[in-house]
Amino acid sequence: MSDWPLIVAVFWASYLLDGLHRSRRARPALVRAFPGPAVARQMPLQWPAPLPWAWRFWADDPPFALSPGGICNQPVGTAGRPAEPALFTAVWGWEEIETVVERGGWLLVNGKPFCPAVASYPATELMRLAATLRDQDTARRAALLRRWLALQYRPAHWARRLRLVRRVSRWPVAANTLALAAFAAASPFALPTGMLLRKEVAEGLAGYVPGVLAVGTMAFVVGVVLAVMAARRLRRWLVPGTVKTILVASLFPPQGLRWRRVITDAMQPVPHPLLAALAGGGLAARREAAFATLADLRWPLPLPQRGDTGRIAEATAIRAWHAGEFEGVLRQWLAQAGIDAEELLAQPVPDGASSCAYCPRCRSQFTRIDGSCPRGIALVALKPRTRQGTSNK
Ligand SMILES: [Zn+2]
Repeated sequence: MSDWPLIVAVFWASYLLDGLHRSRRARPALVRAFPGPAVARQMPLQWPAPLPWAWRFWADDPPFALSPGGICNQPVGTAGRPAEPALFTAVWGWEEIETVVERGGWLLVNGKPFCPAVASYPATELMRLAATLRDQDTARRAALLRRWLALQYRPAHWARRLRLVRRVSRWPVAANTLALAAFAAASPFALPTGMLLRKEVAEGLAGYVPGVLAVGTMAFVVGVVLAVMAARRLRRWLVPGTVKTILVASLFPPQGLRWRRVITDAMQPVPHPLLAALAGGGLAARREAAFATLADLRWPLPLPQRGDTGRIAEATAIRAWHAGEFEGVLRQWLAQAGIDAEELLAQPVPDGASSCAYCPRCRSQFTRIDGSCPRGIALVALKPRTRQGTSNK
């Protein structure tokens, strides 16, 4: 009997730490961990909330910019913060692209590192685009790229998908919650008498423990079955092998109590964090992602003076085309979501009498008007405010 406290401790520790990992790059995700609206997260250290009803949808910021002229590895319209811009500039014209492959977490164009490999923008897709655009004239390329962007970015489609995944995963959630409650109720009885329960209480209730454990075990088994059914129903949207992942995880019970997390994690990432925020985020998450995207389009980070420095002008032109196209799309999304773009970009409330300028991108305030913020964005003067405390338009 003396092994039971250790078994229970290992069980709950494994349950709490399941899914904890550190990734090489911080990836944006939309997370609903507790009751309340979903929030946007971006950290290399990932620790999924331990509750069975928590969910998490991954999103990818576009890792490159494109235009009829070609591609450049400095993205436009990224919503993940802190932004992770490339450390060198790389530019390719469409007719120059011969191979695009993924290796070691990178996308290699013609064998040279181009940008980080991202699930939503696979090498095969970029290669296919290059093959299609190579022999077209500029007007035709622009039309094809607009269509590609429109296909990539469909807010209604992503909203439907995220809703469906949440709806289908609610039955495994119910089974997991019941199993969890039963295991939690039975756990104190595994500890030495007097540690959590008084002797007379423990003895009085001991007769119920086998029944509670039986209910928990049954709920656990039902949860596995429901999770497999949900994964099969959603298989079009999930990464291949999700059913196998569930069956393997079910062999280690602490892992088999959060099937919604396993299912939402297995969903193909949303191709832009703002699409995820608009589909399932709370108002704060939507506004935050909308502002970040818009600010990145208007005030992009300066191109690094490394790599293809001879092609900086070309890179700037590629980004400008992409930003122009994306802003048009973005304005439609925001209008549909009832978010006013100009209001988002309105100047911040000065945080002190000496604040006279701010960075329009990171919103930091400064006590000097000239120069730029540490990220290289030119400062904007803060206009005096009206007495009522509302900022001037
Ligand atoms: Zn800044």
